[in-house]
Amino acid sequence: MKDLRTLSLSELQELFISLGEKPFRAKQVYDWLWSKNLHSIEEMTNLSKNLRDKLAKDFQIKPISVDQLQKSSDGTIKNGVKLHDGLLVESVLIPTETRTTACVSSQVGCSLNCEFCATARLKRMRNLEVAEIVDQVALIDQQSRMYFDRPLTNIVFMGMGEPMMNYKNVVEAIRKITEPEGLGMSPRRITVSTSGIPKMIKMLADENIKVKLALSLHSAIEEKRNEIMPFSDKFPLTDILEALKYWYEKTGNIVTFEYCVWKNINDGEEDIKALIKFCKQIPSKVNLIQYNPIGDGKYDQCNKAAEENYVRQLENNGIKVMIRRSRGGDIDAACGQLANKAAE
Ligand code: SAH
Repeated sequence: MKDLRTLSLSELQELFISLGEKPFRAKQVYDWLWSKNLHSIEEMTNLSKNLRDKLAKDFQIKPISVDQLQKSSDGTIKNGVKLHDGLLVESVLIPTETRTTACVSSQVGCSLNCEFCATARLKRMRNLEVAEIVDQVALIDQQSRMYFDRPLTNIVFMGMGEPMMNYKNVVEAIRKITEPEGLGMSPRRITVSTSGIPKMIKMLADENIKVKLALSLHSAIEEKRNEIMPFSDKFPLTDILEALKYWYEKTGNIVTFEYCVWKNINDGEEDIKALIKFCKQIPSKVNLIQYNPIGDGKYDQCNKAAEENYVRQLENNGIKVMIRRSRGGDIDAACGQLANKAAE
């Protein structure tokens, strides 16, 4: 049976006209589905019983459900989320003093092959649907209200999958999350994180949705980056840079580079020099992400001195840099650890 949430507002309007109903009913249903995130046709109380029955005959709503919830000692909550076909993804709530961030997944598994990431070891099974992305946001908003007494404040597409490889649904989900008829959140509080697919970065720039962009750089030396992230040999850094310049021109938003510093991999002077040179070509800032080991021993967080060296040299060159400490590591909820361990 078809999911009611696969219909656009105009398709809903056509449906109601064909059922002999007033088109404004479509708006009411849209509001239940996308603003109130209601998961039951029966509970759409401003529709007549007769109309609800008619709808329920041909349509259902297929929400996500929490299969397993784990709480970290630092307050992070990891949800193992079950989709309507039984597949699992993970969605993480990350609390700080003043914020609650939802880290949402965009695909089941991932088709990219970043060597350091646990999700890359899973086969990409399928793209998430629009409603499955929006449901993760609504779920974490509920949890934030329940456990922290405040609404969700930020969303990062840094869960499982590559958002740019599920481009259409991710963009549509962002529209549903931000439009006043949907969840009404500010796009400025949404960050799309990508491994760097130039064509898609340009497309996103053209969408006129005012989200932030993060790019997983990890090395500004072409050959090295291609070893760490093998798929990127199809996407030279010069193309990425050109796409980022386009992004900046179109949106006025600076890009954040996500960057892990690994022992004996990219902790040398030439690595820092290359990063500085890269950053100087585009308005940007750098987030140094603490690495979460995934157990193969090849990649290891660099020592403190190497990290400090990065920070000092970036700052000396006028480049803004932040150190991002890992959250939720004790429950495998940290960056790059999302791999459905609970399901194994
Ligand atoms: N595919 C997207 C979004 C998911 S990954 C992307 O690549 O950006 C989110 C971030 O976590 C990326 O910056 C990624 O490089 C980083 N990451 C992956 N594995 C990690 C790990 N084990 N430790 C720390 N960060 C990791």
